[in-house]
Amino acid sequence: MNVRELAEKYKDEIISLRREFHQNPELSWQEFRTARRVEEELKKLGINTKRVAETGVVGLIKGKPGNKVVALRADMDALPIQENNEVSYHSKNDGVMHACGHDGHIAMLLGAAKILKKLKSQFGGMVKVIFQPAEETIAGAKKMVAEGVLDNVDAILAIHVWSELSSGKVSLEPGPRFAAGDRFKVTVKGRGSHGAMPHLGRDAIVAASAIIMNLQTIVSRETNPQEPAVISIGKIKGEGSFNTINDKVEIEGTARTFNPNLQKELPKLMERIIKNTALSFNTKAELEYFVGAPPCINDPVISQVAQHSITKLYGEDITTLFQKTTATEDFSFFLQQVPGIIAFLGIANKEKGIIYPHHHNQFNIDEDVLPIGTSLYSQFALDYLNQ
Ligand code: MN
Repeated sequence: MNVRELAEKYKDEIISLRREFHQNPELSWQEFRTARRVEEELKKLGINTKRVAETGVVGLIKGKPGNKVVALRADMDALPIQENNEVSYHSKNDGVMHACGHDGHIAMLLGAAKILKKLKSQFGGMVKVIFQPAEETIAGAKKMVAEGVLDNVDAILAIHVWSELSSGKVSLEPGPRFAAGDRFKVTVKGRGSHGAMPHLGRDAIVAASAIIMNLQTIVSRETNPQEPAVISIGKIKGEGSFNTINDKVEIEGTARTFNPNLQKELPKLMERIIKNTALSFNTKAELEYFVGAPPCINDPVISQVAQHSITKLYGEDITTLFQKTTATEDFSFFLQQVPGIIAFLGIANKEKGIIYPHHHNQFNIDEDVLPIGTSLYSQFALDYLNQ
């Protein structure tokens, strides 16, 4: 049996694992049950495991003698969302839901571990299966890398199920796929006074309003229009009352770009506008900028290997071109260390009512595509190690 046939053979098992993880979702850094179940499943297959980054699990599958090591990654955490799906495998944890498809990622990779263990005489070297915690908080990958999970790894593949892609389609393109995502906070300080006597105060609300408007000109006037960027303000807090001049306002937002150089540039551009706008209103403002994740940039060579792997099993039509997304994925911390790609696997299926976006309380995945993900993981590992 080839990899595709094996993945089909294990389909029911993969779906039942996905449903089990769906029923038992856990938030970032709390993946205790999930990690234990992943360990149990790997041990059943005779695969040795170790913990990395507390709730992260790594398994090693040894093939014939060889020097190369290929890594396959699945993230495991869920979101603080109350599920609104009426399915038999509805979340049992109130207020917590697998609304990004990570339950599917875990199940697909466990399926691949089973196939690769079975086919261990067909490759040289080693496959490292990485089950990562805390993707949603952009913390897990960084910690796993710091703890050495990529030592000796030559290449890496991750798969993300994707609601904007039709069920069964796969996108493996090279280049930027997920944006860099940073967070910022601006504190504007003025001087309080009576709302009827603005001349006695320094109005932090008016200054903050001007700062928010002026920040919009970074993307429209300062960055190269060929390089997409986003600066969004999602929170503004100024607690006064209807008849006061407010002395302090806090603004919070997010910045996105696909270009690592622009990511470094953005806080400088923002700081200049923030400080000078505040000054022009006789107030002061401070910018705190928190660098999140770098962009995910797919390696062109690995992209080709994966392209061959999937088309040889499913034909050319399975692959599609798909626009990069301004969402962020902390798989980028792995990609900074070793060449690799993150693949998008389509899961949208109108006929089955699977139409909701990621992080929606009715998000779901077309489970019929899970064997495709399992096949991609497995065949890519075989092809990379045997090339
Ligand atoms: Mn995700």
